[in-house]
Amino acid sequence: MTKIVPQPGIMEIALYQGGAAHVAGVTNVVKLSSNENPFGPSPRAVQAMQDAAAQMHRYPSSDHAALRQAIGEVHDLDPERIICGAGSDEIIAFLCQCFAGPGDEVLYTEHGFAMYRISALAAGATPVEVKERERVTDVDALLAGCTERTKLVFIANPNNPTGTMISEAEVTRLADGLPEGALLVLDGAYAEYVDGFDAGKALIEARDNVVMTRTFSKIYGLGGARIGYGYGPKAIVDVLNRVRGPFNVSVTALAGAEAAVRDTDYLDYCRVENAKWRSWLAEALAALGVPSDTSCTNFILARFADQAEAEACDTFLQGRGLITRRVAGYNLPNALRITIGDEEACRRVAQAVKDFKDGAQ
Ligand SMILES: *Cc1c(COP(=O)(O)O)cnc(C)c1O
Repeated sequence: MTKIVPQPGIMEIALYQGGAAHVAGVTNVVKLSSNENPFGPSPRAVQAMQDAAAQMHRYPSSDHAALRQAIGEVHDLDPERIICGAGSDEIIAFLCQCFAGPGDEVLYTEHGFAMYRISALAAGATPVEVKERERVTDVDALLAGCTERTKLVFIANPNNPTGTMISEAEVTRLADGLPEGALLVLDGAYAEYVDGFDAGKALIEARDNVVMTRTFSKIYGLGGARIGYGYGPKAIVDVLNRVRGPFNVSVTALAGAEAAVRDTDYLDYCRVENAKWRSWLAEALAALGVPSDTSCTNFILARFADQAEAEACDTFLQGRGLITRRVAGYNLPNALRITIGDEEACRRVAQAVKDFKDGAQ
């Protein structure tokens, strides 16, 4: 018997299931399974990353000052209270590592993002899942789920994979009701899709128990670069910076993100296109008997009669080269999460679902 054993909790982690990218034997495949921006990154970000490639023999800046400055200017945030990570996933991991350990509880909702559970277990803490109300974050359930052991409460607002969001008043009520010693984490991965939304900034400025995470992986189209950030009270960010590796973010990611955040015209273009084709697709599917909740993100959660129909439709779509996401692992066995692609992709999805419903082969 080996005496080399991992820390408690580690073996309870189920490996993260990413969105598929290929279908055997099918060409003209479009990947709608990972909520990626169909238009890709801003051309300015691509140029900046190409330019940065020539500097790849240099270590990156360890304080990320230029990127934090740019984010601060564009989003009106204090650069001193921004921390950059290899995706917002890394910020989530830092939060769990710093604020939750054995005996502590990390709360999230039944259709919450997979990384909350994974990072809680990795830190040795106990993940606790509470109910949502018809696929919407339920503040009462979260408050009722809190104990004196609760150290972190994660909500994505808007949420993945439901696409729904709760109001600022509801988020404030949650922050107000948390036990002392618990930190509220607002995951803003899809915040930029909501026009004029501050992702919780005002709440963070007014309190000491709220942080937010943001990413360049979604509307900025830089998922492959691995870059995101956190924002919160100085005292919290100081803690997170102690566990952050000095070179956690690459030269290219820093350059790409800085150019991307400054290219607000491109961001606006992506947001508007997404909103247009999101409503078009949601209405087209609803007319075919496939409803979805009003989405505030770059995907819709299409609901089928039952698990068998969702699986059959998924298989049918794959045969047409359309890869969507099964979300049974998020307690949503009857649904498929479909990323909003460009116009052509949305039209292909609507046509394929119609053919599926019509019983075509
Ligand atoms: C995609 C996503 C993230 C982003 O992860 P990155 O590590 O920044 O790529 C974070 N939270 C939610 C809810 C997401 O859907």
